[in-house]
Amino acid sequence: MQAEQPRSNSAQSANPIAERSLTLLGATGSVGASTIDLIKRERGRYRVEAVTANSNAAQLATLARELGARFAAVRDPQAYAELKEALSGSGVEVGAGERALTEAAQRPSDWVLGAITGTAGLKSTLAAAERGAIVALANKESLVCAGRLFMRRAAAAGATVLPVDSEHNALFQAMSGSRRQDVRRVILTASGGPFRTARPEVIRSATVEQALRHPNWSMGPKVTVDSATMMNKGLELIEAHHLFSLRPDQIDVVVHPQSVVHSLVEYCDGSVIAQLGSPDMRIPIAYCLAWPARLAGPAPRLDLARTATLTFEAPDTARFPALALARGALEHGGAAPTVLNAANEVAVGEFLARRLSFGGIAALVERVLEAALHQNWTGEPETLEEALFIDHNTRLLAHDILPEIAAKASYDSGLGNDWGRPGISIS
Ligand code: NAD
Ligand code: MG
Repeated sequence: MQAEQPRSNSAQSANPIAERSLTLLGATGSVGASTIDLIKRERGRYRVEAVTANSNAAQLATLARELGARFAAVRDPQAYAELKEALSGSGVEVGAGERALTEAAQRPSDWVLGAITGTAGLKSTLAAAERGAIVALANKESLVCAGRLFMRRAAAAGATVLPVDSEHNALFQAMSGSRRQDVRRVILTASGGPFRTARPEVIRSATVEQALRHPNWSMGPKVTVDSATMMNKGLELIEAHHLFSLRPDQIDVVVHPQSVVHSLVEYCDGSVIAQLGSPDMRIPIAYCLAWPARLAGPAPRLDLARTATLTFEAPDTARFPALALARGALEHGGAAPTVLNAANEVAVGEFLARRLSFGGIAALVERVLEAALHQNWTGEPETLEEALFIDHNTRLLAHDILPEIAAKASYDSGLGNDWGRPGISIS
């Protein structure tokens, strides 16, 4: 299945205002909150089947009550008692653990939001796709970890994958009404993050507080750090490759600090179609919630005269080596994207725990990629178990290599090796 040619759901397209039932995986996060804000404004149009969270039982219970959900599940089994207590007498069924997340995804609902952070979201989001749901996908790590497998199984089940990520949502909108074979290339825009103009030595020693201060978007900590390293754009290259069946050389990145143009599609005749809007995730989420119709959303309207200037510049992979690492992994193929993603999750976690420098994030990812490929972890995962096995082993490898990287005071961009040079693959 290709996300740009979604299979229409007959009931929904016949009557776009028919009630749609929803499941929110990762309801307590930033994307979850934006989605809930939209749902609350559209009472009667949506019914919530299930909500999930990692461990915040109190917040999840409040949401479940407010939304009238039928099922609430926490990943952390230790949070079960608190969730059960908080929802006693409410009629909301309660679950905990990995299996409860999958159960939430498998319960009958028309539409499932995949908004868990990291590979932790893969199993449940895939379960939703495998029962043929409309999957509004924010959890890009699922596609980086196991994109081919995910899209293949979604297609086999007749699922529709709608991109929530603002860039891919923009591409999706800019592709509708045109023939796929007429697309020449796509251009993902990147804000450049908080260190866009910073000197290399400042970037390498950036603090957690500095990295979490994103200029345009308010998001969860993992994706905010990814934006600061520009690994986020690297993950998005791989996400675009899977969502739209594009070759790596058809996906470009341009830095656009105002975050108004959310991405662009270039066609064979030279036409370029972009989607614009204020930087507010409620716009792409509203598009997914109402698709194929549209919602009257609350996001601030674009005022181009006030914005005044839109600027564009080439990304600098010397200062932001993570972007080159991700492109190298995409071009290499096989298990490299799975390894890249897992190594990055470990690196970001260590940075947020203040055990690794900011520059150490890309350094660790690079070293793990090299080590994994020298150990011949070459095959692309064919099954969920294989993907999770590679992910797990990569995490072990990253923890083995971590002390060596963490001990280094600074990190030289590492562009001297194959991973830093897009277009060169490792044999
Ligand atoms: P967040 O950290 O704010 O929220 C993450 C959600 O996932 C929470 O509900 C949390 O409880 C849950 N969760 C975390 N770890 C879990 C685990 N191990 N098992 C089960 N549940 C777990 O993150 P976010 O900013 O909402 O981002 C969610 C996803 O959407 C990420 O993949 C991110 O890259 C993507 N995304 C986010 C934005 C944004 O604006 N926030 C934009 C584009 C894409
Ligand atoms: Mg994005």
